[in-house]
Amino acid sequence: MAADPHRCTCFIIPSKMLRKLAEQTADPALRHQLLDQCELSAHLRGQRSVAPIMQALVATTGEKRRTVYDAQHKSALPGKLVRGEDSQPSADQAVNQAYDGAGITYDFYHDVLQRNSVDGKGLRLDSTVHYQNKFNNAFWNGQQMVYGDGDGKLFLGFTGAIDVIAHELTHGVTQYAVPGGLVYQDQSGALNESISDVFGSVVKQWHLKQSVEQADWLVGAGIMAPTVGKALRSMADPGNTELTWSGDDQPKTMAGYVENGDVHTNSGIPNHAFYAAAIALKGNSWDKAGPIWYKALSLLTPNASFADMAKATSQAAALLYGADSAEQHAVQAAWKVVGVT
Ligand SMILES: [Zn+2]
Repeated sequence: MAADPHRCTCFIIPSKMLRKLAEQTADPALRHQLLDQCELSAHLRGQRSVAPIMQALVATTGEKRRTVYDAQHKSALPGKLVRGEDSQPSADQAVNQAYDGAGITYDFYHDVLQRNSVDGKGLRLDSTVHYQNKFNNAFWNGQQMVYGDGDGKLFLGFTGAIDVIAHELTHGVTQYAVPGGLVYQDQSGALNESISDVFGSVVKQWHLKQSVEQADWLVGAGIMAPTVGKALRSMADPGNTELTWSGDDQPKTMAGYVENGDVHTNSGIPNHAFYAAAIALKGNSWDKAGPIWYKALSLLTPNASFADMAKATSQAAALLYGADSAEQHAVQAAWKVVGVT
């Protein structure tokens, strides 16, 4: 599969989940809709290298600047402009949620990691809500965020979950922070996914002011109907279908590594390594574990493996806290927990 590592169209709901739900449903219309959305996802993913990165030229502002558009249930992007920075809240809840979630994520990167937006240069944060009709997904298309409304039966909407918004915007951060980006397949693809889950979760914890013990470590809690499951993934216990949904196939350690697996499958392993490091480092995930993982991004290459990430995070811990520090030991031990080292 050809991949332009600098741009990925990254969806929060993996195709494997839409397919599984399509198999399970007794409603033929819903099955059709889910399979159509699967196909559309594949189509959009294939388009990733077509559009040039023009926006960065016009949208770099040097400060927080959010813009929300309404696709009015159609496919054209970005859609109709409905809210800009400092304008009044909309009567439309999805518009305000997309605006607020982008702001929380911007503030996290700015205040905690001293990063100015997705590209580090103040890239304008564009979001489009009400994409298509009953669209069961949200995605970062290499330039902007796009949110569906969900069908209301299986998925309840995507703008309400701050970790979903931060997950998707972090795909943009990875696109710029890793020199050359991270190729969206195999282990580098699973790392790409994991980095989005890591910062999705850290942003949520930072926003809620939760310590590593208080956090639920779930990704995507609240976006789906209780009949489907509680969350997409658990970083504390990947593959635990009591905590997540019935099709969660994430391994927790290398013993369960799936050869040629989906990037949303094997990402359970580096996710759990981050969790183990954060728990060992105690306190708040954004104080030490988050900055270590963030610093590691600049030490990666486009085809980085899990072992490369283990090495990069260990190096990052040494750079931030000193070689042989308790922090570096905690990071090294975490990668042993998941069997990478
Ligand atoms: Zn993702």
